[in-house]
Amino acid sequence: MGGLFGNDPLEALGAAGARKRGAKPSKPAPLATAHEPFAQRVLVAVERGMDAFPEGLTYGVTARLSPLRAGQRVVVPLGRGNARSHGWVVRVLAADQSGDIPDSRLKPVIAAEPAELPEQVMELARWISGYYACPLGVAIAGVLPAAVKKGVGRVDRAYVQLSTAGQAAIETARTRRGKAKEADAPRLSPAQKRLLEWLQTNTSADSVEIDRALTGAGVRTKAPLNALVEQGLVTRTLRTHVEADWLEQAARVEAKPVTLPTPTADQAKAIDSIGATLGSGFSQHLLFGVTGSGKTEVYLRLMQKCLDLGRTALLLVPEISLTPQTAGRVLDRFPGERVAILHSALTAAQRNQQWTLVAEGKARVIVGARSAVFAPVPDGQLGLVLVDEEHDHSYKQDQAPRYHGRDVAIRRAQMAGCPIVLGSATPSLESWFNAVDRRTSMLHELPHRAPGLVVPKVEIVDFSGDVRRFRDRRVHLLGERLAESLARVIGEDGQAILLLNRRGYANWISCAARCGWLMRCEHCDAGMVCHATPSNRFVRCHHCLTEQRLPAKCPDCGAGVSVFGLGTQRVEEELSRVHPALALPGAVQRVDGDTMRSSRDLHEALGRFASGQVRVLVGTQMIAKGLDFPNVRLVGVVNADTALNLPDFRAAERTFQLVSQVAGRCGRGSAGGRAIIQTFQPDALAIRAAAAHDYRGFATTELADRRRFGLPPCRRMARVVVRHRSDTAAHDLAKDVRDKLASLPEAQACEIRGPHPCPVTRVSDRFRVQVEVLAPDAAALQKLITAARNAGAFPGGEVAAVDVDPVALL
Ligand code: ADP
Ligand code: ZN
Ligand code: ZN
Repeated sequence: MGGLFGNDPLEALGAAGARKRGAKPSKPAPLATAHEPFAQRVLVAVERGMDAFPEGLTYGVTARLSPLRAGQRVVVPLGRGNARSHGWVVRVLAADQSGDIPDSRLKPVIAAEPAELPEQVMELARWISGYYACPLGVAIAGVLPAAVKKGVGRVDRAYVQLSTAGQAAIETARTRRGKAKEADAPRLSPAQKRLLEWLQTNTSADSVEIDRALTGAGVRTKAPLNALVEQGLVTRTLRTHVEADWLEQAARVEAKPVTLPTPTADQAKAIDSIGATLGSGFSQHLLFGVTGSGKTEVYLRLMQKCLDLGRTALLLVPEISLTPQTAGRVLDRFPGERVAILHSALTAAQRNQQWTLVAEGKARVIVGARSAVFAPVPDGQLGLVLVDEEHDHSYKQDQAPRYHGRDVAIRRAQMAGCPIVLGSATPSLESWFNAVDRRTSMLHELPHRAPGLVVPKVEIVDFSGDVRRFRDRRVHLLGERLAESLARVIGEDGQAILLLNRRGYANWISCAARCGWLMRCEHCDAGMVCHATPSNRFVRCHHCLTEQRLPAKCPDCGAGVSVFGLGTQRVEEELSRVHPALALPGAVQRVDGDTMRSSRDLHEALGRFASGQVRVLVGTQMIAKGLDFPNVRLVGVVNADTALNLPDFRAAERTFQLVSQVAGRCGRGSAGGRAIIQTFQPDALAIRAAAAHDYRGFATTELADRRRFGLPPCRRMARVVVRHRSDTAAHDLAKDVRDKLASLPEAQACEIRGPHPCPVTRVSDRFRVQVEVLAPDAAALQKLITAARNAGAFPGGEVAAVDVDPVALL
C-alpha cells in the first residue's frame, strides 16, 4: 500500500491545486457492483454503533481498494439505509475466518480514508480494549489524536515539473530563437516560454512557488500553466503536507552548552548492559538512579545506540512539566535528526504534523507524554522504548480508555520486540516488585549523584512546634526554619523551590469564630476552596469546578467568615514578607494548574527561572519533577502531609515519591543544597525514609505491608465505580455488579470487596459506590473482567466505570 495517505478518495476525484481538506469525502460513491468478486474480507470497527458490534463487522474489499490492512480507516455502509460511516479495519480475515457468507450478502468497503494506523498500533488498541475493559471504538479514539483523524492542517499541494516533451520544447524554442519555427514545434506564448524556462531551473516547484513565479512574470492567470499541462509539456502531481509551525524552538528552555559528559562507571555499566540487549528482542529494565544521578544521560546514550542500529527510539516523559527541559536536551543531542515532540499542548495542526512525521518514518527520535506511547512508528522500526519517571501518576489516564502509559509501553515493546527501560529515583512499587521479586525486569542502579552534584541535606521540621509559636493572628505557612533559610538563600542570590500540593488560596472557609459552619460544595462531598485574584476572592469546588463568590457572612449565624488552610496563592503572598527581594514584581512565580494553562506558560515561567529573574518557584507537584537548575539551593515542602492523609493505600508511597523528588531538585550546582520538610507527622516512615534517601528501606517495609493486606503490586486490582443520582440506586447497582462478579467461576481465584461508598462519596450530584476486585495475577484478573463483560455485569453508558490497575482510589 502507498504512503500514509494512499487511496485518497479526493485524489481519485482529481482534486487539483492547494486545497484544505475536511474529513468528509465530497461525493457519495456507489455501493458495490454485484458482479465484482471481493479481493479481501475485513473486520471493521465502525465508529458509530461501536458498542452494538464490539467485535466489528465483516465487509468485502473490491480489487480497486485491495489490499487493505489492519489499521486502515475506511468508509463503510451501515444499517438499512447504508449510511456512510467511518470505521477502522481491525483485522484482515483469512479465507477460513469469514464463515460461509456469500459475497452477495456482504457489503463492500466504500473508500479508504487518509488516516491509517500502523498495524502494531491497531493491535495495541485491541489489547487496550481487552485489558482495560473498554469498547474498541473508545480504545481506537484513544490511540488516534482527533487532529490526525480530521486531517487538521493537511494541505494538498500541486507540484509541477517539466515533462520530457516540455524539456524538448524549451530546447527547440531556445536553439531556434530568431530562426523560422518548425511546423511541429508546439506554439508557446511568451508567458508559457518564461514558465518553461523557469521550470528548467526550479525542478520541483510547488503551487505556491509557481504562483509567485507567475506573478513575477507578469502572468495573472493560471491559464498558461494549465495549457502547458494539457499539452503534456508539464506534469502536475499532488502531494500532501501537514502545515504547522515547526515547534522545535517552542520546546527549548535555555539550552545548556552541549559538552558530552563522560559517563561515570555506574552510568557506563548501565549503558553497556542495557545496550547489549538492543536488537535482540524484548527485555525489560529498571533504571533505579537517585535524583541527579544522570539517568537522562543513560537514556541519551542508549537512544544514540538505537539510532546507530537504524531503529527509532521513543522516550516517554510525564505530562508537559518535563517536556521543555527534557525535549531541549534531546534536541541538543541529536541535532541531525528530526525529533518529534508529542504532548498535550500542541495545536491540532502541530500534532498532526508531528504524528505524520513519525508515521512517514522521518522522525527517528520521539519524545512525548502519555499518549506518545501510540506514536505511529512504522512497523518494524521501533528499537527502544524509554519511560522516564515511570512512577509518575500522570501516565495513567483518568477517563476511558483508562490505560497506564507505562504498562502500555511495556506491551508495545513486547509487540515490537525491543528493550524497554523504566527509569526513576523512586520506582513505583509495581516496577520494584517486578525487578526484585518477580525478576521479570533487570535492575540497574545509579546510587550516586553525577559528578559535581552534592546530595541535598534534608531536614524534617515538626510544624506543630511552629504553629504554637505564632502569636500574631496572621496565618503562617512558612515556619521559622524555612523562612530563615529562605531569607538567607535569597540574600546570597540563590534560588528556591517551594512545594505545596494544594492549589488556590486556602481550603477552609468557615465560621470559625462562632458556630463552626464550614462551606461545602452543594454538589459534592468536598469543601470549597478559596481562590484569590488581585481584585476579588471567590470559591471553587475542585471536584465539579462550581464557582461562587466568597460569602462575607456565615449563612447560619451571620458572623464574619474566616478563610484559612493551605494554598499555593497564600504561600506566594507570605513570601513577600520573608525577604524584600521577594516583594518585587515577578520575583515569585506560582506554577500550578491555575497559572499554567499551556505548555507555553510553563516554558516561559521556567525560562524566567533559568534566567534568574524569578527567584522562587512556588507550586504543586508540577515542580516536583525533572527540573534541573543549578542555582537552586533550597527546596521547601510547605506541608508534606497533604498526600499522606489521603484515604488511599498508596498515600505513603506517593508522599515518599513527592518528598524525594522535590528534594532532588536542589544541590545541582556547586553551592550545595538543602531541603526543609514541614510536617505534622515527623515520624511517618514515608517522610523519614525520604529525608534519609532510603528508597530500599521504604520499599521493603511498604511491600511487606502490601503483601500482608493483599494489595497491589502483590495482587492485581480492578475497581468498578457506580455513579447514580440516587444514593440507594447507586448502592443497588453496585451490589448487582458485585453479585454478578461473584457468581462467575472465574471469581473463585479472586477476592471481591464492597460495595462501599467511595472516599469522595458524591461528585457533581452523583453518589459513587465502588466494588474492588483483587486477583492473584494479571491473567486471573483479565479472565474475570472479560467474563464479567461478556455476562453484561457492568451497567453501560456513564453508570459504571471499570478501572483496571487503578492508581487513585478517591
Ligand atoms: P537525573 O535524570 O537522574 O535526575 P540528570 O540526567 O538530569 O539526572 O543529570 C543531572 C545533571 O548531571 C545534569 O546536569 C547532567 O548534565 C549532569 N551529568 C549527567 N551525567 C554526567 C556525567 N557523567 N558527568 C558529568 N555530569 C553529568
Ligand atoms: Zn456561623
Ligand atoms: Zn463540587
